[in-house]
Amino acid sequence: RAKEEGKNHYRWFDGTVAPESARLMELRNGLRRAMERGEFEVYYQPQIETATGKLSGLEALLRWKHPRLGQISPQQFIPLAEETGLIVEIGEWVLHTACAQNKAWHDAGCPKLRIAVNLSARQFAAPDLVGTVRNVLEQTGLDARFLELEITENMAMKNENLTTLEQLKDMGILLSIDDFGTQHSSLSYLKRLPVSRIKIDRSFVSGIGVDERDEAIIHAMLVIARRLHLSVVAEGVETEPQFGFLEEHNCDEIQGYLFFKPQSAEHIGKVLRDSLPGESRDSRASEDME
Ligand code: C2E
Ligand code: MG
Ligand code: MG
Ligand code: MG
Repeated sequence: RAKEEGKNHYRWFDGTVAPESARLMELRNGLRRAMERGEFEVYYQPQIETATGKLSGLEALLRWKHPRLGQISPQQFIPLAEETGLIVEIGEWVLHTACAQNKAWHDAGCPKLRIAVNLSARQFAAPDLVGTVRNVLEQTGLDARFLELEITENMAMKNENLTTLEQLKDMGILLSIDDFGTQHSSLSYLKRLPVSRIKIDRSFVSGIGVDERDEAIIHAMLVIARRLHLSVVAEGVETEPQFGFLEEHNCDEIQGYLFFKPQSAEHIGKVLRDSLPGESRDSRASEDME
């Protein structure tokens, strides 16, 4: 059998399409049940300010514990949820859960951080994203300035999304471009988009110290971002040399296993409490398992 091609089917060597694997079928069919039975959980990954080492934000990342197949990567199930359209419902649940959790941390006296939530293309295409987001903020009581929404370049590039983005920005929400540099971006769009932040994709970060071309691209991104008054987060920082390069080139924030892995709300609550002044502080919690 030839390598997996596309999202949900295999291609035989003669080019004909084989039925999708039993595993994929099981995952796709399991999504609805997962929502109903509470098999999803939101994990949180802290981001830190490069210059000070202080916590600066959190990204909400969805986890699925499948009753038979165990932990499934979002890289596998998010595309399936996109296909079936269930991502709209799931995404709203993530948004609500993340905002409610962040508000609870604020109310508990933890440092007031922003929570970043990933949006999918389908959520943008759904009738009333702005209304949904507004409702979630109202219901959870979270102030809009503590919410960040992550979109991808392809979503940002769609003309019909521009009004939505502007409305979200006007509400006080921070917008960022995720996986920056990996899709069809155009610098002229970057100029007129209402986004405040870009997230440099891990594929560039992993080239630091290995491939000069990745370093050149990161350097250029940081220069452009600064001139456009965008802040920059580097994703997937795993090593000290990677951190050193980003620090030296004034990348504003860092997100990666070097500092924190995504962890359950319970674990992150402890990290947040430990970061309060007067508590013993150790920002490197890389040993905790996912
Ligand atoms: P993303 O939004 O770019 O999230 C960053 C991914 O990088 C996360 O993978 C995170 O666990 C991983 N990561 C962070 N630091 C490191 C590191 O130092 N090394 C390595 N190797 N990886 C690191 P995760 O959680 O598996 O999520 C994968 C993708 O799935 C996300 O990429 C995002 O596009 C999507 N996703 C996750 N949760 C949601 C969600 O609630 N809604 C939507 N629409 N998409 C989501
Ligand atoms: Mg993201
Ligand atoms: Mg993403
Ligand atoms: Mg990313």
